[in-house]
Amino acid sequence: MDKTRYSRQMLFGPIQESGQHQLSSSSALVVGAGALGTVISNQLVRAGIGKIRLIDRDYVELSNLQRQMMFDEEDVEQAMPKAVAAKNKLEKINSQVEIEAIVGNVTAENIHEFIKDMTVVLDGTDNFSTRFLLNDACFKQQIPFSYGGVVSSRGMTAFFVPGKTPCLRCVTHEGAGGGQTCDTVGVISPAVDMVASLQVTETLKWLTLNEPSLRNTLKTIDIWHNRHYDMKLLTPDADCATCQKNEFPALQKNAEDEETVLCGRDTVQIHSKPALDLEQWEGQLANIADVKRTPFLLKATFEEGIHFVMFKDGRVLVQGTEDRVQARTWYDRYIGS
Ligand SMILES: [Zn+2]
Repeated sequence: MDKTRYSRQMLFGPIQESGQHQLSSSSALVVGAGALGTVISNQLVRAGIGKIRLIDRDYVELSNLQRQMMFDEEDVEQAMPKAVAAKNKLEKINSQVEIEAIVGNVTAENIHEFIKDMTVVLDGTDNFSTRFLLNDACFKQQIPFSYGGVVSSRGMTAFFVPGKTPCLRCVTHEGAGGGQTCDTVGVISPAVDMVASLQVTETLKWLTLNEPSLRNTLKTIDIWHNRHYDMKLLTPDADCATCQKNEFPALQKNAEDEETVLCGRDTVQIHSKPALDLEQWEGQLANIADVKRTPFLLKATFEEGIHFVMFKDGRVLVQGTEDRVQARTWYDRYIGS
């Protein structure tokens, strides 16, 4: 271990040299290498974590650069996968850290492989279906989960410890956010940085054996409207399917079944909602797409050549691609979970 590199961190009383050794023998799974994920992985790698595994299914676009701190114009030009672009930068920052980049989706089928050898999991995702998957996998494997979410100028974060705190499912409900995502209502960069920093702070406390210092709240902030609120993590929801009944519903769900490639039509169908209110979605998508509603469906055309055809029974056709991962990315971005 390079003591000069970490000298200022080791001078910090609660960490010192022993905490630094704890960090260097720890590993973190960071799911999502977007706004939250790039700040999180940047801080963990600089702090000297032993190993980081970074997973992302997306590639770098110009609209990312406003907040996704690890990327630059060259990454956009090359349409670099975010996980790979992040790994390239992180290796230049700290060559002592083992950095693994995975380009792909996290699913109920593969999550076990990704988390089984990890000390801690950090949420850098932008959707609740993946968050609940991470939450369930972490509680099943008894691995702490550092949750964070940001949209607009608002953020939410908590550090969940299996056996000691409630879980994400106890404190928030699937689909929270009312379909709002960063791609429909926007986001400002400082809100992302704050939430990511809070996620990393709690993680550092845990990894350096400073458990009594954990915040133990679900923290909500709105840095534009100057509001913040801490809800204490007290008793779990007695009916919680994850941390009380050990049913782990997100791990049971076969996500692949929701997506069907419609052959020869350049279309992927995604069916993961029981119904869609077309009038409401017309209003929600009108600012960002060319939207046309008929009595039977809603068609939204995006600049990038992708179309959504949305049906009342909950089905969405993502047209302009036959790639399941790309279709799911678009769906999660604009429809959310
Ligand atoms: Zn729970």
